[in-house]
Amino acid sequence: MDLQALLDDLATESAPFAAQGKVADYIPALAAVDPERFGIALATMDGRVLGSGDWRVPFSVQSVSKAFALALVLARDGEALWRRVGREPSGNPFNSLVQLEYEKGIPRNPFINAGALILIDRLLSLAGDSLGTLRTFLREESGNHGVDVDVEVAASEAAHGHRNAALAHFMASCGNLENPVETVLDHYVRQCALTMSCGDLAKAGLFLANHGLRADGSRLLTRSEAKRINSIMLTCGTYDAAGDFAYRVGLPGKSGVGGGILAVLPERGVLCVWSPALDAHGNSVAGVEALDRFTTRTGWSVF
Ligand code: GLN
Repeated sequence: MDLQALLDDLATESAPFAAQGKVADYIPALAAVDPERFGIALATMDGRVLGSGDWRVPFSVQSVSKAFALALVLARDGEALWRRVGREPSGNPFNSLVQLEYEKGIPRNPFINAGALILIDRLLSLAGDSLGTLRTFLREESGNHGVDVDVEVAASEAAHGHRNAALAHFMASCGNLENPVETVLDHYVRQCALTMSCGDLAKAGLFLANHGLRADGSRLLTRSEAKRINSIMLTCGTYDAAGDFAYRVGLPGKSGVGGGILAVLPERGVLCVWSPALDAHGNSVAGVEALDRFTTRTGWSVF
C-alpha cells in the first residue's frame, strides 16, 4: 500500500470538512488559529514518519496530553490511581460539573477535565514537577527537544479557567486532591498549552502501539497497562462522542480542543491528525473524518 499517497488523498478529501466545525474560542488564544490548517502524520513501528499537509506545524495539544499523563501516572503508581478516578465513559461534556457532585468528587474517567486534574495532582506528588516530567517524556519520545509550553495559550486559559477551578475546588472539598488547587491548575493549563506537531505526537505515542515499550527499547508500561490505556482511549478518549468515534474509526483515540487527535494502530503505528475546527463535543470534524477514511480504506482497526 502506498501510505504517502493515501495520506495525501485523505488531506485533500478531509480538510474541507472543517467548514462544518468551529474553532474553540472559550480559550481566547485558541480562537486565533487558522481553521483551514490540516495535518496528518503516521509514525510506524519501523521508525518511519510520513505526513501530509501541515503535519510539521506545532499546535496546542490540549487534552491529547491526557493520554501521556495517564501513562506516566500508571507507570509510577499502578492500580492505586483507580481509588481516586473511575474508568467509565461520562456521557457528559469534558468540562461538566454536574456529575462530579453526584459522584462525590470522584471523576468518571482520567480524560474528562476533572480526571485529568487528578492525574496532575498524583504526578505532582509522585514526581515533584508534573509538567516538567511530562515535557521531558514528550521530548525524548518525539526526538524534538524544542517541545515546550505556549505561554500565551497557558495564560489565556488560566485567565478564563473558572470551570476547571470549580472542578478542582470541589474535588479538594471532597478530600480528593493532595496538592494545592492553584498548583494543580497551573500545571494543568501549562500541560494543555504544550505545542507539538502531528509528526511529534505520532512518534511520542508509539509506546501505546508497542505494548508499552519506549523509543529507546526500555519499558514504560507492562503490556497489560498499555492495553488498559488504549481501552480507556477507546471508551473515553473523545468524551460524549466516544461511541460515535469507535463506530466510525474503530481505534483508541484521544482528542484535544486544539483540534488534534491521536489514534493508535496496535503493532502498526500511531496516527495524528490536526484540524482546528471542532464539533459540538470538542472533537476535530475533519480529523475524525480523516481517521474514518483511513481505517475504512486500509482495514487497519482493532476490529
Ligand atoms: N484545556 C482545555 C480545557 O481545560 C482542554 C479540553 C480539551 O482539550 N478537551 O478546557
